[in-house]
Amino acid sequence: MNLLQLCYLLSAILFILGIKSLSSPETARRGMNLASLGMLIAILGTLFASHIVTYKWIIAGLILGTLLSLPISLWIPMTKIPQRIALSHAGGALAACLIGVAEYYRYRSNLSPLSMSIISIEVMLGALTFTGSLMVAGKLHGTLPARPVTYKGQNIVNLSLFAGMVLLLLYLILYPQVNLLFYTLLSLAFLFGVLLVTPIGAADMPVVIAIFNAYGGLTGAMMGFMLGNRIQIITGALDGASGFILSILMCRAMNRSILNVLFGAFGKLEEDAHQRRAATSQYKKEPQPITVEEALPFFDQAKSVIIAPGYGMAASQAHHALREFVDKLKSHRTNIKYAIHPVAGRMPGHMNVLLAEANVPYTDLFDMDEINAEFSHTDIVLVVGANDVTNPAARHIKSSPIYGMPILNVDKAKKVIVLKRSMNPGFSGVENELYVQDHTWLLFGDAKDSLNKLAYAFKRAWNS
Ligand code: NDP
Repeated sequence: MNLLQLCYLLSAILFILGIKSLSSPETARRGMNLASLGMLIAILGTLFASHIVTYKWIIAGLILGTLLSLPISLWIPMTKIPQRIALSHAGGALAACLIGVAEYYRYRSNLSPLSMSIISIEVMLGALTFTGSLMVAGKLHGTLPARPVTYKGQNIVNLSLFAGMVLLLLYLILYPQVNLLFYTLLSLAFLFGVLLVTPIGAADMPVVIAIFNAYGGLTGAMMGFMLGNRIQIITGALDGASGFILSILMCRAMNRSILNVLFGAFGKLEEDAHQRRAATSQYKKEPQPITVEEALPFFDQAKSVIIAPGYGMAASQAHHALREFVDKLKSHRTNIKYAIHPVAGRMPGHMNVLLAEANVPYTDLFDMDEINAEFSHTDIVLVVGANDVTNPAARHIKSSPIYGMPILNVDKAKKVIVLKRSMNPGFSGVENELYVQDHTWLLFGDAKDSLNKLAYAFKRAWNS
């Protein structure tokens, strides 16, 4: 085994260990460091490989890449990470796609059917991932309309375009020299990326990012086969497989299928539901509002409190205020735990990232499966901007879009206090029956504001 192969083997091991460590918030930082070290070893190994003829273009690429990525990594805030990831996917996919085009340009008169199929898949997936990921970034950033943009016959148009690309690909495998068809395939793939994302709402973008992550990985693996580079094949396969597994896990946690995410225009429900709500409310009872002063004695007497955070915590940036309030409760000898639902918020690990930013100890965080049995003997659950992930309708209303989605058993606690601004539904557009149960109170207002007021009221009450 030569030095280069040894470097690649070491990198592959570090990548696998890195991904393994990412499965827990406690070891995630170490996982990132291991994977970065693996990447450094792979790059250095390649740079010292004997077959590199000139370093001129590599240095130019390094300078350009550093100039583009340094400001992004320094200045993009934590809340904009999904857009940043989408941009990285776009860049990686474009690079792999262009390498495929270059390989085709150089060897097109001499390509075997196997090589041609690899190049065509590489270029097709790379091009659609590039434009699709740019669309994702635009929708998440608000540069493009966040809502699903749909029209009659849209799925038929998209499926026909896809079928057309597959036909072109098959034809090219038989007749690789037909330049025009190759560049038509490339152009259609760019267009397909745009059309694929157009009907998907911004709230579904995390699943789409994971799917493009998988496509990008596959593109890289194809490039590895084309260039005969083993580490590219390994990293591409790891990237592709982890992207697919992540998208499947996210869909399962939302009780949806990937096809429903891609073709269901699901985010439209949220918008329509907001408009329909007043006229069609199914609530049989009125919710019980509560003020900060009225909520105070509940917390004063509680021995155990579980916090259930959701998208509203992220939207109001309430995580620091939450930790400060929890610190006050802890100093009152209240036992505190955080219940983390796998799809709370709008991206995988959304709650973990925010709570880590607010320095909440990992040991206070519990996954849904670990904590669900504890709700029934907990004095208070404080729901901070979570809605769908606490909705008992998911257990028993078969017609509900969230039916079958595992939820946090918040309704089993002795008392529930919910922080939200109105009676509006969450992402799925479904009313939450938790809000009209006898042991639930709603503290209306922006979550950060309400937590600051609670913390202030506590301070005053205990100091007096
Ligand atoms: P939801 O979207 O169900 O509910 C969020 C709640 O936050 C709303 O009821 C809203 O009520 C409230 N809210 C919004 N802004 C504020 C604010 N400033 N202050 C206080 N409350 C606020 O969120 P969940 O986290 O419960 O559920 C996540 C949903 O997103 C699930 O349906 C999941 O399937 C879906 N999803 C999750 C993904 C992921 O990767 N995590 C990816 C894609 C979808 P109000 O407007 O009245 O304040």
